[in-house]
Amino acid sequence: MSIIKLHDKYFKNFISKEELDKAIKKLAIQIYNDLKGETPLFVGVLNGSFMYAADLLRHYPAPCEISFVKLASYEGTNSTGTIKNLIGLNGNVAGRTVIILEDIVDTGNTLQEIYTLFEDKNVKSLKIATLFLKPDVYKKELPIDYIGISIPDKFIVGYGLDYDDLGRNLPDVYQLTTLHMKNIVLFGPPGAGKGTQADFLKSIFNLIHISTGDVFRYNIKNQTELGKLAQSYMDAGNLVPDEVTIDMLKAEVEKNTSANGFIFDGFPRTVSQAQALDAFLAEKGETINGMVALEVPEEILVTRLLERGKISGRPDDQDEEKIRNRFNEYDTKTAVLKDFYMAQGKYFGVDGVGSIEEITSRLNEVIKKL
Ligand code: AMP
Repeated sequence: MSIIKLHDKYFKNFISKEELDKAIKKLAIQIYNDLKGETPLFVGVLNGSFMYAADLLRHYPAPCEISFVKLASYEGTNSTGTIKNLIGLNGNVAGRTVIILEDIVDTGNTLQEIYTLFEDKNVKSLKIATLFLKPDVYKKELPIDYIGISIPDKFIVGYGLDYDDLGRNLPDVYQLTTLHMKNIVLFGPPGAGKGTQADFLKSIFNLIHISTGDVFRYNIKNQTELGKLAQSYMDAGNLVPDEVTIDMLKAEVEKNTSANGFIFDGFPRTVSQAQALDAFLAEKGETINGMVALEVPEEILVTRLLERGKISGRPDDQDEEKIRNRFNEYDTKTAVLKDFYMAQGKYFGVDGVGSIEEITSRLNEVIKKL
């Protein structure tokens, strides 16, 4: 399953492009058989029907004509019942068999408007071919001649249908969904204060904190197989290989299946980790709500890490060369994740210089809106 975000809402897969194509092909053939050689004038109702009209015509096995009218019935996710006729018909439709191509019929208000629009046009016959019908909400007696797919009363987007103008370009159809978890990637270079801040944030938002560095250190301390595997990489300030890290992360998430959400700290650190995380969460119908990044200049970071090394006893904090290598790993493999989440509209930078309390409150402001 994949989850997409449009404006403030999330949508999950509903009808695939293959299923759409099958239904549309069937409609085209049904119409063709009924017309017995007559040339139809298809009339697409914009904007929602543009993909449907294009594909139906591609499947229509004989000469035909197409024209469009534009009406609008939706604002937001509820049918408003107010419909305006924006672009009328041009050309002569008298004596023609007109087939209206509607993307979706729900209350039937738009359909009513279409019937009214054609009342004085002296067409030979007027037929309706809708791709989707919501039988549970359709309140009118007006005939619908061809129905592609009947769907329950769900708000859908994709394949021409929109949510406040977005989503029309999606080749598949998605339905509105609510996410159950708040999942945050707490991001920033070594020493940015992710661990310190995660401790506060996990209790403010009631989230599970997963620090991959902490999990590795725990395993090293207990000399587990995972610990033995990770130690040489960690001691040198290199990243542990993706396969090892991704499996470990998944296992940590699986231990907490009833969580309200997670703060991922130190993960993902490579693009393939980020892709694996997206796919893994999507299987659960969840997603990353945002990457919240602590932005701190490098000079401050080195000082902070050397200071921390005196207390933490971490070998990778005590040697400036290892610290520099960790920055190098960060700059070459991890920093690109900013673009990865930015492209999804999920990157939120936070100034990471200041007192611990100041920074917590800056993070709080961002995370509570995610
Ligand atoms: P940290 O405590 O986040 O600074 O991580 C310490 C070390 O653990 C890193 O320098 C890596 O060697 C290893 N490590 C932690 N998280 C990851 C990750 N997501 N991918 C690869 N290595 C990691």
